[in-house]
Amino acid sequence: MVGETILEINLSALKNNVQLLREKIKKDTMLLAVVKAFAYGSDAVKIAQFLETLGVDYFAVAYIREGVKLREAGVKTPILVLHPQPINFPLILDYNLEPSLYSFNTLNSFAKVADSNGRENYPVHIKFNTGLNRLGFKSTELTEVIDVIKANKSIAVTSIFSHLAASEDSNERSFTQAQIKQFKSITEHFKSLYGRSVLRHLYNTSGVINFPEGQFDMVRCGIGIYGYDNTEDGKSKFMPVVALKTIISQIHTIEKGQSVGYNRAFVANQTKRIATLPIGHADGIGRQYGNGVGTVRVHGNSAPIVGNVCMDMIMIDVTEVDCEEGDEVVLFDKQTTAEAFAGNANTISYELLTGISQRVKRKFITE
Ligand SMILES: *Cc1c(COP(=O)(O)O)cnc(C)c1O
Repeated sequence: MVGETILEINLSALKNNVQLLREKIKKDTMLLAVVKAFAYGSDAVKIAQFLETLGVDYFAVAYIREGVKLREAGVKTPILVLHPQPINFPLILDYNLEPSLYSFNTLNSFAKVADSNGRENYPVHIKFNTGLNRLGFKSTELTEVIDVIKANKSIAVTSIFSHLAASEDSNERSFTQAQIKQFKSITEHFKSLYGRSVLRHLYNTSGVINFPEGQFDMVRCGIGIYGYDNTEDGKSKFMPVVALKTIISQIHTIEKGQSVGYNRAFVANQTKRIATLPIGHADGIGRQYGNGVGTVRVHGNSAPIVGNVCMDMIMIDVTEVDCEEGDEVVLFDKQTTAEAFAGNANTISYELLTGISQRVKRKFITE
């Protein structure tokens, strides 16, 4: 019995997914676990600590403050910061984090900060843009990038990397293959000009699943670790790590013509039993799930969300379901995946998972 809204986090499933990814990559390929955004909405510190015991080689976060939290909790594994903001560069040094440098602005300003702190050969990661057009140097800037790096003794390149634009999309295979080819040529050019060995990495989870040929020295996996592989064949061996559960706070019987919730968005066409749940858009169930778009499970039966989603509550139709106040309700779990729940509202597991707010209690289980 859950007693309140909880996000259940299954560490055995996490371990299973890491093992599965390890089986898919070559023996000497390193595994970087992406733990940005509270480890995809779960709990970055606990997840990173657990993954550290599994011997994951690297972590990545998006922002510097996310990395600081992990270091404060005692995480020792190298941490790549994917999207650092120059205003926080001093924290990179204080907390032994490793920046992605993706522009001349970030490269020059980080080299300066490291230099003025008396650092030498501080580990940095250089990002190239191969088609996503989000962050990264152009391949045509490579020579100038190397010149700047060589002129700055304060930094040394640990890795060069890029990011795929459509690795999960089978209609874009030729685009992805062109990105792999372009990245390979960048790495060769970079190595010959830089003269020191550097790690190379390109893939996210779907890269690993769909393209065996371009794993290079490391892969960066997020969603796979949390149990989703973005394939639609329904045969995934990845196990969803989190389950979102709540309880029934109150049940009302309403008559034909009566309404439910704000703006009277649901009006009963017959006598209905309506259950109110202590979870709303402030917990991460957005308004797009209202008015029948989202359905939940009560004792294995599906029950639609009726009316508008409130900040702290949703109402569901349990007319056909034998249930009472205090009973458990499942929003998503292994059976109704976050991918499926999100899909009903035309969004993706990533958005649903990372949107589960911090006020939802996290509960760790193994099974
Ligand atoms: C978030 C992110 C990843 C992880 O992607 P998944 O699809 O979750 O495996 C990898 N690399 C970069 C640069 C990212 O921003």
